[in-house]
Amino acid sequence: MHEWALAEAVTSTALELSKEKNVKEITELRIKMGELQQIEMEIFEFALSELTKNYDILKKTKIKIKMEKAIFRCNVCGYEWSFAKDKLTSEESESIHFVPEIVHAYIRCPKCNSPDFEVIKGRGVWLDSIEVR
Ligand SMILES: [Zn+2]
Repeated sequence: MHEWALAEAVTSTALELSKEKNVKEITELRIKMGELQQIEMEIFEFALSELTKNYDILKKTKIKIKMEKAIFRCNVCGYEWSFAKDKLTSEESESIHFVPEIVHAYIRCPKCNSPDFEVIKGRGVWLDSIEVR
């Protein structure tokens, strides 16, 4: 169900922004999604189309969803790197998709080999920008 909550958050943010600016129509919504975000894309897109059709200014809106690459930072040496999916077996990357917390079990700092790192990008769903008329 959280796909609906996320779609609702994106929709209401767009509506609020357009209210402030006295917008007639939102032509495009650009949404960013972290690659570690647990989400069923089909449900999310369905939720968005269901929610946006209730509002005149959102009826004709093009919706674009872009992935944001995950970035990790080592807590020991400060090195930053991105998520290299190709280095994992497909079974591992499936588990990471469903349970982002287990990235710690599979990924280590490529510089100092420490498992102590932070996910600094690649989580969450947010409204990146809107285009209006
Ligand atoms: Zn390190």
